[in-house]
Amino acid sequence: MVNFANTKPHAVLIPYPAQGHINPLFKLAKLLHLRGFYITFVNTEYNHKRLLKSRGPNALDGFTDFSFETIPDGLTSLEGDGDVSQHVPSLCQSIRKNFLKPYCELITRLNHSATVPPVTCLVSDCLMSFTIQAAEEFALPNVLFFPSSACSLLNVMHFRSFVERGITPFKDESYLTNGYLETKVDWIPGLKNFRLKDIVDFIRTRDRNDIMLEFFIEMADRVNRDSTILLNTFNELESDVINALSSIIPSVYPIGPLPSLLNQTPQIHQLDSLDSNLWKEDIECLQWLESKEPRSVVYVNFGSITVMTPEQLQEFAWGLANSKKPFLWITRPDLVIGGSVILSSDFANEISDRGLIASWCPQEKVLNHPSIGGFLTHCGWNSTTESICAGVPMLCWPFFADQPTDCRFICNEWKIGMEIDTNVKREEVAKLINELIAGDEGKNMREKAMELKKAAEENTRPGGCSYMNFDKVIKEMLLKQN
Ligand code: UDP
Repeated sequence: MVNFANTKPHAVLIPYPAQGHINPLFKLAKLLHLRGFYITFVNTEYNHKRLLKSRGPNALDGFTDFSFETIPDGLTSLEGDGDVSQHVPSLCQSIRKNFLKPYCELITRLNHSATVPPVTCLVSDCLMSFTIQAAEEFALPNVLFFPSSACSLLNVMHFRSFVERGITPFKDESYLTNGYLETKVDWIPGLKNFRLKDIVDFIRTRDRNDIMLEFFIEMADRVNRDSTILLNTFNELESDVINALSSIIPSVYPIGPLPSLLNQTPQIHQLDSLDSNLWKEDIECLQWLESKEPRSVVYVNFGSITVMTPEQLQEFAWGLANSKKPFLWITRPDLVIGGSVILSSDFANEISDRGLIASWCPQEKVLNHPSIGGFLTHCGWNSTTESICAGVPMLCWPFFADQPTDCRFICNEWKIGMEIDTNVKREEVAKLINELIAGDEGKNMREKAMELKKAAEENTRPGGCSYMNFDKVIKEMLLKQN
């Protein structure tokens, strides 16, 4: 008897081991599954354990032609223990040193397995650039996926030029505050009115051997003109940047935004119970939102990695309280540096039922709830694209990595957000919230966000640019016979 599974193309997907990377690659895995691929999704042991803890021990079993595998992350438990995001530089260092071998062993094992089809293609987070070497060894096509904006990728592809021009490493700490970050970046085609402040912030280092800078320069060196890279963006968002990138890497394909591509796929609900959240979701906040007026609530969430000082927490808290607007604030146990989220009884009395502080939530459902009027965000790329897909304007407090770059686009290019100063003050938070929810500027931003939502839907429905790009990559790369 012919085993149906054996006739399927088999894609092995591996994300960088952090929530903001796992989520979009998981969406891609679902989309490929619905296009007839057998899927192996590879998490680190640490994240797989967290996934089972948050979803339930059997939550990942029993899906036909969709399976999970793990590899060790090479970190000691001290570097990543319990229910928290792991230390990013430690992970990056370990990826460079420790991941290639177990990854290749896994592919060999899958190829010898009697129960799964032989591996026919790899789909890898661009940050897992060691997979480029593995793909060569196994003679497999490897389609890369860059989970942040096209602009962030363009920045990273030029990191070496920042070193060569003597811009980074910075000479001393004062370069962070003495106006140096306002320096114009005018030598990168595709960037309009960019300052050092807007560049992916791994250039803000004093260390010649900075782990993050080296990690990304290595990635940029490995990616070449033959690479195929999928981007979670669409033409209307970043056309100049995408054009500039295409002259460095001809095969870059915007296929996003992924939430929209996924939601417009008819059979997607078959896979609703397959989810990639590493934290257990608190869904009661959805009910709380039901009691609020349309577009009245500020949704506050700083993602999976951002941390703040206890003082900054107080400024946000009192800014929210003093705005007198309803808010839903999602906090993580590790949100505050050196402590936990402690707010006074005065604060609790002040907000009463107007504010809800909850833990990890189903963010896309929250953003699409009619009560949400704005999103106070750290500008992670997933949060940004999810907000656009929901037509929700933003207040931006970028923290690190690509977030300053995303913030620049949100506030200056697309004009769907306003920035909060790094040195956050409660008066400013309250004022901007009022403008966002009730002011004319907020209204204009909401209209623009709705226009982008529509453009996102047009791009990702059959016949749209992102949809056609995805189709092309499947047919020409992932189904390519060796
Ligand atoms: N997320 C979520 N619930 C939360 C917080 C975040 O589902 O309470 C999801 C969010 O929808 C997004 C991801 O976690 O898909 C965070 O990614 P992002 O790029 O925005 O930020 P990062 O966590 O990487 O800084």
